[in-house]
Amino acid sequence: MGKVVGIDLGTTNSCVSVVEGTNASGQPEVKVIANTEGARTTPSVVAFTAKGERLVGQVAKRQATTNAEHTIYAVKRLMGQKFDSDVVRRQAGSVSYRMLQHENGDAWVKAGERTMSPPEVSALVLTSMREIAETYLGEAVTEAVITVPAYFDDAQRQATKDAGRIAGLDVKRILNEPTAAALAYGLDKTEREVIAVYDLGGGTFDISILEIATGVFNVKATGGDTHLGGEDFDRAIIDKLSEEFLAKAKVDLRKDRTSLQRLREAAEKAKHELSSSLETEVNLPFVAIGPAGPLHLERAIKRSELEIWTRDLVERTIVACKAVMADAKLTPKDVGQVVLVGGMTRMPAVQKAVKEFFGRDPNKGVNPDEVVAVGAAIQGAALTGQIDEVLLLDVTPLSIGVETGGGVFTKLIPRNTTVPTEMSEIFTTSVDNQSFVPVHVLQGEREMAVDNRSLARFELTGIPPAPRGIPKIQVTFRIDVNGILAVEAKDLGTGRVQAVSVTPTSGLQADEIDKLVTEGEKFKETDQLRRDLAEMRNQAETLIYTTEQALEAYADLLDAEKLAKVHAEVDLLKKMMETGATLDSLRGAYAQLENSTFEIAEAMYAT
Ligand code: AMP
Repeated sequence: MGKVVGIDLGTTNSCVSVVEGTNASGQPEVKVIANTEGARTTPSVVAFTAKGERLVGQVAKRQATTNAEHTIYAVKRLMGQKFDSDVVRRQAGSVSYRMLQHENGDAWVKAGERTMSPPEVSALVLTSMREIAETYLGEAVTEAVITVPAYFDDAQRQATKDAGRIAGLDVKRILNEPTAAALAYGLDKTEREVIAVYDLGGGTFDISILEIATGVFNVKATGGDTHLGGEDFDRAIIDKLSEEFLAKAKVDLRKDRTSLQRLREAAEKAKHELSSSLETEVNLPFVAIGPAGPLHLERAIKRSELEIWTRDLVERTIVACKAVMADAKLTPKDVGQVVLVGGMTRMPAVQKAVKEFFGRDPNKGVNPDEVVAVGAAIQGAALTGQIDEVLLLDVTPLSIGVETGGGVFTKLIPRNTTVPTEMSEIFTTSVDNQSFVPVHVLQGEREMAVDNRSLARFELTGIPPAPRGIPKIQVTFRIDVNGILAVEAKDLGTGRVQAVSVTPTSGLQADEIDKLVTEGEKFKETDQLRRDLAEMRNQAETLIYTTEQALEAYADLLDAEKLAKVHAEVDLLKKMMETGATLDSLRGAYAQLENSTFEIAEAMYAT
């Protein structure tokens, strides 16, 4: 068996890692694998260009402003969701791409000419993670452990597994993210302990309370806010700086796409720097044009200022922590370990707030943006026997049951049951000579069937004629280690096992998945070329923009001949972009213009 990689398929970023061996004391040595750009996490962003090129990761994120409608991000929130759900309504208000209702009621996204299911989009991110691992390992990667939030229901888990399959991966296990984070710290060895996993990522905040007793992870409660994350901290900086700029220069930087994008990147960079320094500088030359010429933004930011601007955001996470503790019927004193997940937990003010609330120092040592992938890799290595088996058991996040008379929801497997598990129920007919019995399977905690999540509907058919109540059909519900449901039916009268064809109320059909797998293979060869071309176009767009700005401000420093040459070069590059020039010819024109901009810079500094 090859290596099983661990993949954290995140809302904003994804990460892949693998266990390479064990150290002298038998602990797994985990390698977090960097992508081709050297980054250890990759944006979960997918884009389609006007020419149908597919871009994934940093290159897709970089072109998001200029290709907003066809750039898909935060698709994790749409996995396994119905179009008419609140989650989808909320997402529609905050993203720039379109969503629509698929014929099975699921929310799909629209990218260019094609509509795609969320698992298909996630599969592109997963394919990219698989390729990152393959480049590093020098061999094909076909198996993975993929993580999901603890509160993900059956449909969301199933959608994640489908995404893995489309990406050519055999998903050995769907693992809860907080459980993975705890595994990364070896907390599965703990006798009995309550663990809080505080996960503040780019776009979501999750807080989970786990109880661990010799390898069994019991999720006591989960909470958080699916619309609170690092982006809100960035926005706080953007708003502050733009308001100051507006007051001074009378230009609102948020109104211009390019200025806003530059400000957004600078804000995030400043936020990162303020996690390790007490002061940083935002410096954006030519950020806008005012009535009197080009405008520049220069602003020193102190860590204390950032903390004031974002105090309410940090406070919101603590309010959610309080709520989840109440749900779990525990107090912070009962918590034995605190694990931090998500890049935002590098911010000192966040760490301080967490420490104050739980009254203890959080576990440190594993990078917070890698800890979930590290745990997933450890689980993967345990599954192949590469390291000692971790006895790791999760529990069902929600109850599973069926609809019975009068639309009542009858629970068969209550939430928090350790998986794998199974449960049987006897069904019968309600009228004489009834030849089939409809069964509706749902998941949730509400009393009435309509208020819960519909998982599947099927019919037990071929029942021999008999008075009502006489036929006995035993239906067995099995939940596997991934929290995914399978159903089997047996006619106790004839002893015949009935093939129950479960039609999922959402998700992709097996043949649809197979088709997508084949399509993925087909695309593979051309992807690298498309990616290079897109990167080049991106760089060219930036160079055209900055050169035009510089020409506007410093034209009088150049002699007429040079000026004409630069203008001609800018025009040529623009034209090539419009007419869809090849990668090589773009490279040539880019290099030429770049050379000329160096000359402008020289002239600027010579004055
Ligand atoms: P994740 O979803 O875990 O990848 O989290 C990404 C978020 O963490 C983004 O909003 C990043 O800007 C933020 N982040 C990453 N590194 C740092 C840092 N050093 N200080 C503050 N925030 C960070």
